[in-house]
Amino acid sequence: MKQPILTIVVPCYNEEEVLPITIESLHLLLKRMIAEDLISKESKLLFVDDGSKDQTWSIIHKESVKSEQIRGLKLSRNVGHQNALLAGLFTAKESSDCVLSIDADLQDDITVIPRFIEKFSNGYDIVYGVRKKRDCDTFFKRHTAEFFYKFMSKMGVNLIYNHADFRLMSKRALSELENFKEVNMFLRGVVPLIGFKSTSVYYDRKERLAGETKYPLKKMLYFAFDGITSFSVTPIRFVLLTGLISFFVSLLFGVYFLTLKMTGNTETGWTSLITSIWLIGGLQLIGIGLIGEYIGKIYKESKRRPKFIVDIDSITFPKPLPLKNTQRAKDESYNLNLRKLPETN
Ligand code: UDP
Ligand code: MG
Repeated sequence: MKQPILTIVVPCYNEEEVLPITIESLHLLLKRMIAEDLISKESKLLFVDDGSKDQTWSIIHKESVKSEQIRGLKLSRNVGHQNALLAGLFTAKESSDCVLSIDADLQDDITVIPRFIEKFSNGYDIVYGVRKKRDCDTFFKRHTAEFFYKFMSKMGVNLIYNHADFRLMSKRALSELENFKEVNMFLRGVVPLIGFKSTSVYYDRKERLAGETKYPLKKMLYFAFDGITSFSVTPIRFVLLTGLISFFVSLLFGVYFLTLKMTGNTETGWTSLITSIWLIGGLQLIGIGLIGEYIGKIYKESKRRPKFIVDIDSITFPKPLPLKNTQRAKDESYNLNLRKLPETN
């Protein structure tokens, strides 16, 4: 089999301190993988400068002049990690068979990258990098991150536990990702929705090589909130549920308060007042919850997510396809069909 063309995409925001080491380490790795015939000679590194204010772009530019294998993409302003990553993935897709994304700080272990390629060559379309342990993260970061995964799953958002954005995707998985038209793209939630044959590679997460985290607490909370509201209408359901509970409680209380009144154990006016507070409160919450349900539907419609994604289509391709590189086989077969058309006419 021909070696796959790999592009490694690295989003960078104010990473001047760590970038020279990152470029050197990734470049060495790329050259080694090419020498070992794991990947094609056309494989590249793509550094995305997400509107940095420091020397990030000039470092990328300097290195890209020195080597054909190092490429850069400069965004017009800071658009955030997820969008910078998307810009890199979609740009790289055009000239690659598979694209791997990794953070610039090399907290993720680059020595496991050849295992991602092995999995891809074995027919996997998506390979998730999963952290075995997070000993190097601070106590706070570790616990908030673990709480985040559990809370998201309770909210109905299925994430790969302990997986961030260290992942490999095939060209066809990336093409499907392009069909998710939403503006607030929460990649960790969307990628599992693509489906296809997926697997994980486990590694130990290390400390940042240099520089500071670009995800302080405020940004982390915002990211989590964005994740929930981009995927789930569960918070709206809570409002509706609270309204319904409050309404039924008001009915029960109504009976109880009337009994109290009849036995003469209440102040004048209290019974009607307390019952109506519960009743009106419940009705208002039900009303808000119902409106929320409709807004929830509009929100889902407005995302225009694909309703299904085809893996193998055996009507167009009656013969069994090889397990590996289904997309390439699909393209070839399609071309063959086209060539055959004039003969049948
Ligand atoms: N990043 C980015 N744009 C931003 C913030 C971060 O491209 O607005 C990049 C950053 O350079 C790094 C990656 O996203 O390569 C993850 O950021 P960081 O390592 O600071 O996050 P942490 O690992 O602390 O969660
Ligand atoms: Mg980091």
